[in-house]
Amino acid sequence: MKILVVGAGIAGLAAARALELKGQHVEVVERFETSPTSGQGIFLLGNATRALKNLGLQKEVIEASFPIASQQILSSSGLVLNSVATQSVWGNCGPCVALPRASLIELLGRSLQSTSVSYGKTLTSTAISDDKRQVSFSDGSTSEYDLVVGADGIHSPLRNANFEATAPRPLDIVSWRLVVDNLGELDSWTVMLGRKRTLLGIPLSRKQLYIYADCSPRDFQDGSIETLKDLFSQFKGPLGPAISGLTPDVITHRAMLAEVAAKPYAAERLVLIGDAAHASSPSMAQGAGMALEDALILAESLSRPEASASVLAAFYARRKARLEWVQKQCAARDKLRNSSNFLRNLILSKFGNTLYQHSYMPLAQPL
Ligand SMILES: Cc1cc2nc3c(=O)[nH]c(=O)nc-3n(C[C@H](O)[C@H](O)[C@H](O)COP(=O)(O)OP(=O)(O)OC[C@H]3O[C@@H](n4cnc5c(N)ncnc54)[C@H](O)[C@@H]3O)c2cc1C
Repeated sequence: MKILVVGAGIAGLAAARALELKGQHVEVVERFETSPTSGQGIFLLGNATRALKNLGLQKEVIEASFPIASQQILSSSGLVLNSVATQSVWGNCGPCVALPRASLIELLGRSLQSTSVSYGKTLTSTAISDDKRQVSFSDGSTSEYDLVVGADGIHSPLRNANFEATAPRPLDIVSWRLVVDNLGELDSWTVMLGRKRTLLGIPLSRKQLYIYADCSPRDFQDGSIETLKDLFSQFKGPLGPAISGLTPDVITHRAMLAEVAAKPYAAERLVLIGDAAHASSPSMAQGAGMALEDALILAESLSRPEASASVLAAFYARRKARLEWVQKQCAARDKLRNSSNFLRNLILSKFGNTLYQHSYMPLAQPL
């Protein structure tokens, strides 16, 4: 099959890798000159590293990562509410790790052997003709494909043009992401929760700490570093001091969070994967994991002999339960995070481990 993948993010590059491993002929187009790496760090749970293993890349990913053996939840005053050993859920699945986004993108890109990746080239339109996908590009060229895979992100132009109006739903959360010095040599995933404010630190190494902070759009104001410092000035150690000394020039990625409800985005010789099909709140840290799993299951489905339409339906049927589970759990986590400090802290200190097991255990099961 001749396959076009639109978008060279995690989903697009992983799909190209998975399809290539199944012997498919793949082309990737990316509208920008480089793949997206904004957002600084990324946390991968065991199902994501298992998927990378299936793509033949787990060793390289582990070499580029910091191992995350435990996840701690603290109040804004530094009281430990819950601590869970990641091994307890992911032990038989895959290791939990954190790494710079650029490293993950780079090793996915480097893994491609026969795939051509064209940067600075945008898909401008596509239509079905003679049972093929005709595609026009921004450089004026046209081509036809047996399948177009839309891995074109949360604002997916392919979703907007080919499926019922499905604008991403705002989540009423705005975030900052940046990398700071790992002053206290934090060695576990550590989140501190305040009233409608979250401050998360994930070590990328003994020297570097990836920080994610969020608040409501109203509190975000101008999104400046001064606002970030003000909002979290009452947060104690270990994370408060990590941001109190920030200077305005620190490279910061800001995002208004939104989600795309998971649905079967499949039309004639066209299918969507990754954020284009199911962007979710980051509270389960499953964006990359779901994108990598999409890639594997799509490639596996396409290597079957059935007709294109039933292959795409079968692909979604295999993904549905996991995608819906992640979105349901994200909503539950966001709701709990935003409940009163007293109730949330009580629930997390009494039931934190049970909730962790409950939300992640199904994802640790075989694909
Ligand atoms: C604040 C935040 C924190 C997160 N943290 C984590 C985390 O710790 N762990 C985790 O697993 N996930 C995390 N995620 C989710 C994760 O980042 C995403 O799920 C993942 O990056 C999505 O990848 P993608 O390839 O689907 O989309 P994208 O990375 O958006 O890539 C889409 C690409 O398509 C290109 N494109 C679009 N239209 C066209 C066109 N017409 N022609 C050519 N190219 C086109 C775009 O330029 C872009 O490069 C987080 C998300 C957010 C918002």
